[in-house]
Amino acid sequence: MKLLIIEDEKDIALPLKKSLEVHNFAVDYAVDGKTGLEEAKLNNYDCILLDLNLPEIDGIKLAKILRKDKNTTPIIMVTARSQMYDKLEGFETGADDYITKPFNLKELIARINALIKRNSVNKIEDLHYKNLQLLPEKNTIILSGKKIELSTKEMGVIEYLLRNQGRIIPAEELLEHVWDSEIDLFTETVKTHIKTLRKKIDPKKEIIKTVRGKGYLID
Ligand code: CA
Repeated sequence: MKLLIIEDEKDIALPLKKSLEVHNFAVDYAVDGKTGLEEAKLNNYDCILLDLNLPEIDGIKLAKILRKDKNTTPIIMVTARSQMYDKLEGFETGADDYITKPFNLKELIARINALIKRNSVNKIEDLHYKNLQLLPEKNTIILSGKKIELSTKEMGVIEYLLRNQGRIIPAEELLEHVWDSEIDLFTETVKTHIKTLRKKIDPKKEIIKTVRGKGYLID
């Protein structure tokens, strides 16, 4: 799942980006409202963490612009404690949730996951498919009762496919949601990861189907 952090304080944004990446999120980061807005329009994020006080365009204005543009990406507004009263106004802008600084990482991740779940086709907490069980919040995959070690990206791919069960997902869409935008990527990267993923959990190709010329499918 891909996130965008829009935050002008690097001391907050960079460690947060790192911590979220440890928890399997692909994370882009923008330092001001203008850059953040451009990124949000350009990429298809699963959730945006939006600081309230930002240079160029502030958080409230930014959220309003995105919603006016019919952009429905879940937004978590990040506010300082002293801005408690601004929170209500934050909700009116179309932000889906808010969190006050300093926040607890676990709490933030729980809220991000709740919003992503609310937005996904498959709303179940623990994602199941045949003898496969994915516990995204615990970063764990269980196959026939056995815990399997997956890389961050392999986990990202299987989670995205499971959340969109029944829909053919083009490789480009997987790139958009599982990898961050810093690296130049090709659909070949997705192919490689599907291959290693299958080796670990789906050697007979019974879980992830390849739909020639279209993408991948768990149905
Ligand atoms: Ca700020």
